Amino acid sequence: MKIGRDFTNLLNWVYLTDEERDFLSKGKILVSDIDARIQIQAKKDVFNQIEFAKKFGIKHIELDGGIPNPFLEMSSHQCEDIKKFAEDNNITLSFHVPYTFVASAVVSFQEEDRKLAVDLIKKYIDVSKKLGCINVNMHPGAVPFYQTTGKYYEIAIRNITTSLLELVPYTEEKGILFHIENNTTSDGILYEIDDCLKIIKAINSEGHNVKFCIDICHWLTREEIGIEVSTSPENIIDQIPEEFLSGAQVHLSNYVSVTKEFHLPLHYQNGLLKRDNLIRLLKKFKEKKVAIVILETAVREINELLNAEKIIFEEQSYLNNILKEAEKE
Ligand SMILES: [Zn+2]
Repeated sequence: MKIGRDFTNLLNWVYLTDEERDFLSKGKILVSDIDARIQIQAKKDVFNQIEFAKKFGIKHIELDGGIPNPFLEMSSHQCEDIKKFAEDNNITLSFHVPYTFVASAVVSFQEEDRKLAVDLIKKYIDVSKKLGCINVNMHPGAVPFYQTTGKYYEIAIRNITTSLLELVPYTEEKGILFHIENNTTSDGILYEIDDCLKIIKAINSEGHNVKFCIDICHWLTREEIGIEVSTSPENIIDQIPEEFLSGAQVHLSNYVSVTKEFHLPLHYQNGLLKRDNLIRLLKKFKEKKVAIVILETAVREINELLNAEKIIFEEQSYLNNILKEAEKE
């Protein structure tokens, strides 16, 4: 089992100007403003991500196609260079397709919208192939809060199934493993594990091999809609059949129930996933033959952004240690 990383905003500090660094340290700019300016540049610089991965012993990188991103503007030549650089450095890549704006309409009640979303995501799958990605990961769409139940829910499920029956074969023909990731509660639907598994079962019954990229942090956001969360959230893994996890990638980051912050660094140990939970969680992942655990930590504070290299280093050491323990028992 490999530990991988989606760098999210952890490398944004590399691209700061001296003036921005100064403004940040004086609290004159927010981390989110820096995100807005630098995101595309940081995502495009896959070489930098690979250099950092090498430095920290990270063996897999998930490229973040969250909006905004640079990927549809990349030339075949640029993609080829990235693919080769990753291969030369023994680092595998996966691609997280967009999940907001047009992309979230894969579940839409309006056929025109749904088709637009599917066609858009196919373009990202084409780029993933050029980049040499082994996995693609997609959220199952978002629905407005007033259309999430009853007949609307039925239509949404029917439509996401139709979209997947177009996207999954398209991905599989390219030799890439397709993953569905459970939503957060703010997406309105498909934040429950069982609901996601039902869809994956339906697609796979047509002869496909969709995997489940469970994001335990997303699952914990159920607390925000009043569903009580367990102190042993790792037990949710027991409900997932091995066939959906074996050879798959999964996401990992923490969630704090009081402040409702998510994707915060695991080694802070102030979220629901404490050290012991993580040991049990990684053990369960290993038993179900998960191939890659992708850390998806993001930073929100100014000092964290400026010291993100230290955070990556500490979190990675913490996780490597936990993995050793999980593999020992
Ligand atoms: Zn995730």
